[in-house]
Amino acid sequence: MANFNIDAQALNTYDAIVVGSGISGGWSAKELTARGLRTLVLERGRDVRHITDYPTTNMQPWEFEHRGQLRKDVKDANPIISKCYAFYEGTEQFFVKDAEHPYVQEKPFDWIRGYQVGGKSLMWARQTQRWSDFDFTGPARDGFAVDWPIRYADLAPWYSYVEKFAGITGNKDGLDVLPDGEFLTPHEWNCVETHFQKQIASKYKDRHVIMGRAAHLTSPKQIHYDQGRAQCQHRTICERGCPFGGYFSSNSSTIPWAAKTGKMTLRPDSVVHSIIYDEKKGRATGVRVIDANTKQMTEYYARLIFVNAAALNTNLILLNSISSRFPNGLGNDSGTLGKYVAFHNYRAGISGEYDGNLDMTTDGRRPNSPYIPRFRNVYKQETGFLRGYAAGFQAGRSSQTDMSGMGADLKQSLLNPKLGGWHVGSHMMGETIPKESNYVALDQSLKDPYGIPQLKIAIAYDDNDEKMIKDYQEQMTEMFQAAGFTNIRLRDDKRNPGLDIHEMGGVRMGKDPKTSMLNKWNQLHAVKNVFVTDGASMTSTSTQNPSLTYMAFSARSVDYAVKAMKKGLV
Ligand SMILES: Cc1cc2nc3c(=O)[nH]c(=O)nc-3n(C[C@H](O)[C@H](O)[C@H](O)COP(=O)(O)OP(=O)(O)OC[C@H]3O[C@@H](n4cnc5c(N)ncnc54)[C@H](O)[C@@H]3O)c2cc1C
Repeated sequence: MANFNIDAQALNTYDAIVVGSGISGGWSAKELTARGLRTLVLERGRDVRHITDYPTTNMQPWEFEHRGQLRKDVKDANPIISKCYAFYEGTEQFFVKDAEHPYVQEKPFDWIRGYQVGGKSLMWARQTQRWSDFDFTGPARDGFAVDWPIRYADLAPWYSYVEKFAGITGNKDGLDVLPDGEFLTPHEWNCVETHFQKQIASKYKDRHVIMGRAAHLTSPKQIHYDQGRAQCQHRTICERGCPFGGYFSSNSSTIPWAAKTGKMTLRPDSVVHSIIYDEKKGRATGVRVIDANTKQMTEYYARLIFVNAAALNTNLILLNSISSRFPNGLGNDSGTLGKYVAFHNYRAGISGEYDGNLDMTTDGRRPNSPYIPRFRNVYKQETGFLRGYAAGFQAGRSSQTDMSGMGADLKQSLLNPKLGGWHVGSHMMGETIPKESNYVALDQSLKDPYGIPQLKIAIAYDDNDEKMIKDYQEQMTEMFQAAGFTNIRLRDDKRNPGLDIHEMGGVRMGKDPKTSMLNKWNQLHAVKNVFVTDGASMTSTSTQNPSLTYMAFSARSVDYAVKAMKKGLV
């Protein structure tokens, strides 16, 4: 019997364990296996294989039973995820349904999740901007949260590293507020977007309209072909999964790359319950896993553990990893675990019309749009609120098709729709301030289907966010007017936090173990062989879409961890 146990333990022992196979977990797995480590990737959801498991990827609108619309019973059963623009008949299979994985909303919070191999990398909108030093120095300059333990220069080479592999389209704009990256060919502008760009450039010194930077292969290189990926076809149905690998997902890129090394064991349907801490050894030895089908618990062991379950689930796993050394969650000597959670404020938008360029229209589709980098409070504090916002921008022409005819007449009308005027629109992407009062914790009285305590979420907007919304609306109105746009309408959809799908923090990085959980290598101050490189690690949120930064952190942190392991430091 004793031998049997030793054999079982050996069988379940790896060099490294990665929890989660989404954007950050995929990168951790790729980097660990590339360095020769036998790596176990534990994913709570089902397997989703590239191409094979994208059932709707080639379906035409008329092939959907409900033409792409959600059925009423699906909407009624899923009031939370139905608010997400990307949840429709073609993508239902990738979203976690409301009833399946309950959580406690101490304050209203729309938690949008993708539990499957690839995580949310299948459904994401692929916007990928680097952070700048204005972001990494933000908390220290403006006196909130804690100072980041790194600066832009620490991450810049890793941004380059992940951009080259993932494939990022963009234009080199030379802006200090949004550093350039390793870009593939940028997407094209339409004439009204160019008009807006020129008007803003002529009227403002510090405001820029640039083409979005996004994880699309506009001009693939050999490294992308080596991944089995091909040029983006501009189908703009990305969130159904792309058979060309035209956009970056874990499924098309990092996970198969890690598998090719022969060093990765991918175990779907494996819900990580907690991390095992060995008091005698003074380090984590493995994880407890519940099989999603049999509900049986098994332990897996490794020298290195990367927690990449996405921000809030990573918080949950650490909070649930209790020992007598860490009664309040793994590595939680500071008492900050679960606190200082922040997100992005996407509540406001603006729309308008443009009377010019009526002799022009657009041709084809584009899975990207122009972007306005943050311009408020960048060089100095100039408003009554902290930090700032970036904004999306887009122009397009409406068209109407006369469906009244028959046969050749109808074909003609379908081919020659009546063009309407130009519509323009923008949405804000505001930085929110991490605060102790915005937190997640375990609800010990309510359990999920696996017997794990449910996550209690208490996150809300504050006065800073309200002021920022007002400023965005005022400034964008001024900019729209400056460009000659008319019929300007403002929007504040009062959406709950969460629907931005950029929740961050709770396991923040910092210089001081008394006020933070992780050091500058994304390593738990108190448990040196555990690393957190997803959104949970973020000390502040900036305005940029966050996933590129998680990728860069994951690659950088694995590089450090493996070197440290070889030196016997972890
Ligand atoms: C519609 C949409 C649009 C978006 N647009 C953008 C964008 O334009 N730009 C951008 O930067 N970001 C965007 N995002 C956010 C982006 O998808 C996330 O930031 C990113 O996926 C986070 O990576 P991650 O690895 O932390 O988490 P995920 O990709 O969510 O992966 C986490 C994985 O961990 C697994 N997991 C969770 N708990 C456990 C457990 N206990 N045991 C085992 N496995 C577990 C999950 O099943 C999942 O597979 C968007 C998201 C959505 C849904």
